[in-house]
Amino acid sequence: MSRNTIARIDLSAIRANLARIRSMVGSSRVACVVKADAYGHGLSNIVPALHDADVLAVATVGEAERCRQYGWSGRLLMLEGPANADEIRAACEHRCELVIHHASQLKLLERAPRLPQGPYWLKLDSGMHRLGFPTDQVGTVHAALRRVSGDQPVILMSHFACADDPANPMTQEQLARFDRAVNGFEGEVSLANSAAVMNFPASHRDIVRPGIMLYGVSPRAGQPVASLGLKPAMTLQAELVAINQVARGEPVGYGAEQRCPRDMPVGVAAIGYGDGYPRGLRQGAPVLINGRRAGLIGPVSMDLTTIDLSDHPEASVGDTVTLWGEGLPVEELATWANAIPYELICGVTARVHMQVLPEFIS
Ligand SMILES: *Cc1c(COP(=O)(O)O)cnc(C)c1O
Repeated sequence: MSRNTIARIDLSAIRANLARIRSMVGSSRVACVVKADAYGHGLSNIVPALHDADVLAVATVGEAERCRQYGWSGRLLMLEGPANADEIRAACEHRCELVIHHASQLKLLERAPRLPQGPYWLKLDSGMHRLGFPTDQVGTVHAALRRVSGDQPVILMSHFACADDPANPMTQEQLARFDRAVNGFEGEVSLANSAAVMNFPASHRDIVRPGIMLYGVSPRAGQPVASLGLKPAMTLQAELVAINQVARGEPVGYGAEQRCPRDMPVGVAAIGYGDGYPRGLRQGAPVLINGRRAGLIGPVSMDLTTIDLSDHPEASVGDTVTLWGEGLPVEELATWANAIPYELICGVTARVHMQVLPEFIS
């Protein structure tokens, strides 16, 4: 028996979001990003629902192996590329395409007894300065990659730093720097994450790489995905396990710092930072009680969270509390936790029971 702390995963939403992404990007192919356990949605749940993706993209070899285990037989891309010889061996075994972003990886390829099939994804640094070769080295590294890979096709790629802000000129600058660098090279091009899919159609090119929007979440608050026709795939819920009357001026929870501004019923929900509900949430952060809003009072603890039920006289023990998802966007909650929505959905822990709503069969 487990407590009713659940992440409901709606596979119809995933299907609908992929269809919506396809309608936004026209003929570009879609590499669905499923790293970090499909952004906390459970790789084993999500992989079968993405059976018609063009590519699945993961960060690590372990994630690639699990995609194969869950039945994915299509193209598989390892976004970080190989870190050592073992990872190249594993990439061969699991038929992974590799990103090559650093000279050390070219050396690994050179020394490897066996290499995975191409294409190889050559990553250029167009200005983010995290991973990628400097754009002025594209000629030499492209030639080197072709040589060590036995003339496998090369896909040229880069990544944006600020595409979540449509007004930021940096994305156009990165795009222009990339285009100047790859001018004259044959092969496909891939640039766009979710934010660029949403905000910069000129970046869609041959293959887009959406992650967060596939799960129905916007890269940041203030750009609601509902207006784009995307639907959140995860709803995090818990139960009220107690309701206690607390007098005005009395403290609630650890530290005894936050005090009741009036006599009030305080509800206790069976969820805390041990489940991935962030401890950084500020007082007043919203939850839904039976579909209506209430606010936190007192700090989130490991297993429990306390809620001001002043406006919910009808609430009773056993009622459902929604922490985020349907009716309460995780993007909004993230702003109350000084976090980004990615952190919240990726942070749901193994203690939370996943309840999978199947795709509608149509
Ligand atoms: C994670 C990742 C993506 C997906 O990013 P979202 O913002 O979730 O759409 C795309 N490309 C690369 C290289 C990534 O690491």
